[in-house]
Amino acid sequence: MNRDSLFPTYAPPELQFSHGKGSWLTDTSGRQYLDFIAGISVNTLGHAHPDLVEALHAQAQKIWHLSNMFDVPGQAELARRYCELTFADRVFFTNSGAESIECALKSARKFHAEQGHPERIDIIGFEGAFHGRTYATVNAAGNPKYLEGFGPRLPGYKQAPFGDMDSLRAMTDEHTAAILIEPVQGEGGLRPAPISYLEALRELCDAQGILLIYDEVQCGAGRTGQLFAHQWSERAAPDLMATAKGVGGGFPLGMCLATADVARHMVPGTHGTTYGGNPLAVAVGTAVLDHLTAPGFLENVRERSAQLHGKLNRLKMKYPDLVAEVRGKGLLAGFKLGSGLNTAMRDRLRENGLLAGVAGDNTVRLAPPLNVSAAEIEQAIAIIDGALESLQRVRVAAAGSSQ
Ligand SMILES: *Cc1c(COP(=O)(O)O)cnc(C)c1O
Repeated sequence: MNRDSLFPTYAPPELQFSHGKGSWLTDTSGRQYLDFIAGISVNTLGHAHPDLVEALHAQAQKIWHLSNMFDVPGQAELARRYCELTFADRVFFTNSGAESIECALKSARKFHAEQGHPERIDIIGFEGAFHGRTYATVNAAGNPKYLEGFGPRLPGYKQAPFGDMDSLRAMTDEHTAAILIEPVQGEGGLRPAPISYLEALRELCDAQGILLIYDEVQCGAGRTGQLFAHQWSERAAPDLMATAKGVGGGFPLGMCLATADVARHMVPGTHGTTYGGNPLAVAVGTAVLDHLTAPGFLENVRERSAQLHGKLNRLKMKYPDLVAEVRGKGLLAGFKLGSGLNTAMRDRLRENGLLAGVAGDNTVRLAPPLNVSAAEIEQAIAIIDGALESLQRVRVAAAGSSQ
């Protein structure tokens, strides 16, 4: 495939998929792959789910696009349903995760400005965080790799060590606007924040008049077995939350959710988007939410999660020299390998018919569709087992020959 006319930002393998069904993708040679990365935690119901196809087709016959200058059919109702299911009172629809974070950052600063504190602009994030690729979101995450070469860093962004309350407390002051955290770090290496840590953040924010922002772009939409990951506790609700990826099931859709107190300042003229929450996105997003809230759906996620984590832990015991740790929460899972081995493992898994991803800290990332079956998890584990075994054989042989 000749990619010379594309920005060289991506370097995909020599592989072309022609269609998908459920947890499976088929390439142009007819070979089938078990998809355990699902567009990076996006294809909530797998590929070509009939209800999503139907929702998109039905809407496509009516209206594709209006822009938000008119009431978008279904948008207010989808927002109402999400508000009923969460801490939120109001929703702003977007096309992506980064845009949802941007809305949260602007809303947080606007809130303080309207309270008479325009000096409260600092957003405290965490090391290892990922919030997207726009200029504000790379500054918010602070990963030097994603900032280098793009000019000066923006003022008003700081990073605290992940999960360390004392250093975070020392960082907050009268300039702090908000704390921004992923309840489960995805890109950073599938690190869940303990739920007690989120509760402690809520308390700290309440005590100091700071807003709490969650980035549930990757860990939301049912991925951990709750609709949103922070909902494992009733005492960890944020003031603002960004989500995207899974809520659209593969159609670009994101949301910034907020309390009434915060959202009320985002009046006409303060913010906007042309495509965000357009009729096609809302139609698909509504069908996704119908599934997420259907009886038994999240129970299946929890059961499959227990199965997946149980099996991964067994592999860790079987290959103690290779698998350093099993990571993640729910169906956002992974395992940590020795330095530099995660990309080799991902490639080997693909050669053996399993699509996985990588994440920071030498982890292999697994994020299957949420309606994955028990049998498909067994198949994936068998492929991972085989790949670990062959990696171990190579290592033993290398150790033998070096003696
Ligand atoms: C993917 C991701 C984003 C960015 O989402 P885009 O849709 O790529 O802009 C932000 N935060 C987290 C946690 C993500 O995983």
